Amino acid sequence: MDAAPPNLRTNLLGLERPELEAFVGSLGSKPFRARQLMSWIYKRAEGQFDSMTDLARDFRAQLATVAEITTPEIVSRHDSADGTRKWLLRADQSQAFEMVFIPEVDRGTLCISSQVGCALDCSFCSTAQQGFNRNLSTAEIVGQVWLANRELGFEAGGDRRITNVVFMGMGEPLANFRAVVPAIRILLDDLGFDISRRRVTLSTSGLVPQMYKLAEEVNCALAVSLHAPDDALRNELVPINRLHPIAELLEACWHYIDEQNGRSVTFEYVMLDGVNDQLEHARALARLMRGRPAKLNLIPFNPFPGTAYRRSPMPVITRFRDELIQRGVLATIRRTRGDDIDAACGQLAGRVNDRTRVRLGDKLAAAMNA
Ligand code: SAH
Repeated sequence: MDAAPPNLRTNLLGLERPELEAFVGSLGSKPFRARQLMSWIYKRAEGQFDSMTDLARDFRAQLATVAEITTPEIVSRHDSADGTRKWLLRADQSQAFEMVFIPEVDRGTLCISSQVGCALDCSFCSTAQQGFNRNLSTAEIVGQVWLANRELGFEAGGDRRITNVVFMGMGEPLANFRAVVPAIRILLDDLGFDISRRRVTLSTSGLVPQMYKLAEEVNCALAVSLHAPDDALRNELVPINRLHPIAELLEACWHYIDEQNGRSVTFEYVMLDGVNDQLEHARALARLMRGRPAKLNLIPFNPFPGTAYRRSPMPVITRFRDELIQRGVLATIRRTRGDDIDAACGQLAGRVNDRTRVRLGDKLAAAMNA
C-alpha cells in the first residue's frame, strides 16, 4: 500500500473498537490485531507503531504509512498552587482550547473540552464570551485523555492518576453529539480507557432532544446545568431554556435515569450574588427535586474579566445548602480548584480568535451536528 500523506492518515484515537477492527481488516489483517493495538494504545499509552513489539514487523510498517496516533499539541501548561493543572491545546493555527486535571486524595479528575468555544451563550460563563468556532473531532476528544495520561506519567500497571473524566471543559457536548458519543464509548470500553460508567460524566446545559438520544446510545453519568428554579430567571442565565424550559428538561433527566438504571442526575447551580441565591430560590429548587433521583452541586461563581456577576458570599452559599438539605435534597458545595490559573469552572477561555460568533437562536442548529 502507498504511504498516505500525513494529513490523510487515520488517527486511531478516533476509532471505536468495531471501526478499528474494520480498519485493520481493510489492511488485510485479522480482527484480533485490533485488540492488540488497543492494548498498546490504551493500556500502555504507546504512540509509536514501531514499539508495538508483538505485532508483525510488516504490519507495523504498514500501519506507519496509513495510520497515526496523534493528539492535539500542547501550547502551554499552567500549574496551580493547589495541584490543579491546565493545558492549552492547539486546534489549528489560531485556535486553542483547554483541559484541566484536578487531583484529589481519592481520585483524579480530567476535565475535557468538546468544542472550541461555545454557542450557548450562558450569561455567567467565560467560554460563552468567546463565541463558537468549531466542534472537536472524536480523536481530539479522546486525544485529550490519552495526552493527559502521558503527561501525568502514566505507567502500564501503575496507579492510574486519571480515575474520572468530566465533559465540563469548553463547549456544549450534546451540541457535538456525533463526535462525543463515540469518544464516550472509547472511554468506557474495557479494551479502551476502561473507565467505569459512573466515572464518566457528561455535563449539558439542557439540549433536551439530544438527552433522549444519549439515553439510547451510551451509559454514563449525567450532570445538568440548572442554575435557576424558574423559567423567567433561567431564560436569562441559560438561554437554551427558551427552547427547552425547565419542566421539559427535568422530564428528560428522569427519563435518562430510568433508561440507564442510573443513580441520580447531578444538577449544577452557580451561586450568583443577589441573582439566584435567595432562600426562596432554594425552596423552589427543593420543590423541583424532592423525591427525585437528584443531587445538587452548588458552584461558587468564578469571575472573569468583563463580567458583571459576583460570587455569593460563603455564608449565603452554606445557608442555601442547609435549606436544601433540610428539605430533603442532597446538596453539596463544589470546592473551587485552580482559580489562580483561571482553570476553575466557567473560566476556560482558550483562544478562539477566528470566532464566528455563532450564538443561540436560529444559528444554533448550524452549530449542532446531531
Ligand atoms: N456546556 C456544559 C459543560 C460546561 S461547563 C454545561 O453547560 O453543562 C461546566 C459547569 O460550569 C456548568 O455547570 C457551567 O454552567 C458552570 N459554569 C460556567 N461558568 C461558570 C462560572 N463563571 N463560575 C462557575 N461555574 C460556571
